[in-house]
Amino acid sequence: MEITPDHPAYDAERAGFQTAFEHRPAVIIAATSAEDVRAAVELAAERHLTVAVKATGHGREGSAEGHLLISTSRMTGVRVDAERRTARVEAGAQWRHVIEAAAPHGLAPLSGSAPEVGVVGYTLGGGLGLLAREFGFAADHVRTVDVATPDARLVRVTADSDPDLFWALRGGRDGFGVVTAIEVDLVPVSTIYGGGLYFDLERVPDAVNGYLAWTATVPERLTSSVGVYFAPDLPMFPEPLRGRSIAHVRIACTGEDGDELVAPLRALGPRVIDKLGEMPFADAGSIYDDPTHPHSYLGDNALLTELTEHALRDVLALADQYIVDIRHLGGALSREPEVPNAVGHRAAQYVLRVISPFDGGDPTSVHTGQRKVLDAVNEWTIGRSLNFVYGSTDAEAGSFEPGDLLRLRELRNRVA
Ligand SMILES: Cc1cc2nc3c(=O)[nH]c(=O)nc-3n(C[C@H](O)[C@H](O)[C@H](O)COP(=O)(O)OP(=O)(O)OC[C@H]3O[C@@H](n4cnc5c(N)ncnc54)[C@H](O)[C@@H]3O)c2cc1C
Repeated sequence: MEITPDHPAYDAERAGFQTAFEHRPAVIIAATSAEDVRAAVELAAERHLTVAVKATGHGREGSAEGHLLISTSRMTGVRVDAERRTARVEAGAQWRHVIEAAAPHGLAPLSGSAPEVGVVGYTLGGGLGLLAREFGFAADHVRTVDVATPDARLVRVTADSDPDLFWALRGGRDGFGVVTAIEVDLVPVSTIYGGGLYFDLERVPDAVNGYLAWTATVPERLTSSVGVYFAPDLPMFPEPLRGRSIAHVRIACTGEDGDELVAPLRALGPRVIDKLGEMPFADAGSIYDDPTHPHSYLGDNALLTELTEHALRDVLALADQYIVDIRHLGGALSREPEVPNAVGHRAAQYVLRVISPFDGGDPTSVHTGQRKVLDAVNEWTIGRSLNFVYGSTDAEAGSFEPGDLLRLRELRNRVA
């Protein structure tokens, strides 16, 4: 379906989860099949328009202004092959669709904090999941990528068919065509130990330091993070958190010994909320409890080889207006996958994210403020994570190893 600015569905179709950036595509193609996507790419070439893609709009950065936007949100098909432990996922599917389809087979995908995020956008950008330290990046577990190429052909890209393009698509995200479907690995996980511990930083001022020290002691099958923020007196926050500065530790772990593993965290002090326990993987969206309503946010991050107590103090002092999110990396994330891909900076042990709600206007002052926080950890910074850059005009800067960035640019020229 072709939707132009005078169409009644135009506003709904161009909108997405991220509301910070108003954009007015010249035309939107609401695709329902790979052939629709291919035809849209062809149409864009005929009309000399640039192609942009949107599944959910979680990562949208206003890039479709005046261009042809392909909306894939109707392409939500998921086909699980339980024997091969894979799922073939269409371009518009969200993680919740895959989680639902995989669960009856005792399988789970390498999904992230929010089940509403799009599988393809997340995976092309690397994909840091709930079980990431045990299994690696989502991009490490892609078998095939179906693409409408920039010259409007439908091709299946595999490690054998086109090793360069297969390398680039998994982590390099943009400029290689529009993905119509991917086939990803599933892992044999149906139950996990997971949830969150919420500390009031006034009562447990050392909670974040304690968390960081604890990360050095945990096995790879435990993946965790801490979010630090002030919870205003708003209904979206559980009542006991309101009006407090919170450190929210999130845990996802396979194995039977979850309670033992988190005992040192509980020993840090009283929790305002303590909801950790066995849960079906299908309920794992409750671990982060990410917002599900569209809103406006800006964010940046730094991949760090370490995060010292001293640097953490600086970060938290500078970031009192922001949401700070520190995710523990390492484990399988540090290892190259069997078939290499464009995800780099694998020596990182933490990703430090700074996120701000944004109420419109000029984002420069927000970017400058976030930069100051990240400058405090410059000494340990080796790059940044493409998926966690929100609202920057140069999302790729630092997101790749320098040699990989050159290779990606050469490949983009080749396929353009
Ligand atoms: C609340 C929230 C939680 C998140 N949690 C995590 C997390 O735990 N781990 C993590 O790694 N990331 C996470 N992210 C980041 C998320 O993975 C990226 O923003 C991702 O790009 C979103 O993809 P989307 O399809 O949902 O969004 P969209 O805005 O629809 O797409 C984002 C971008 O992906 C690319 N893209 C999408 N579809 C296609 C396609 N068919 N072909 C080619 N390119 C395409 C395009 O560049 C597009 O601009 C989170 C984001 C939010 C807002």
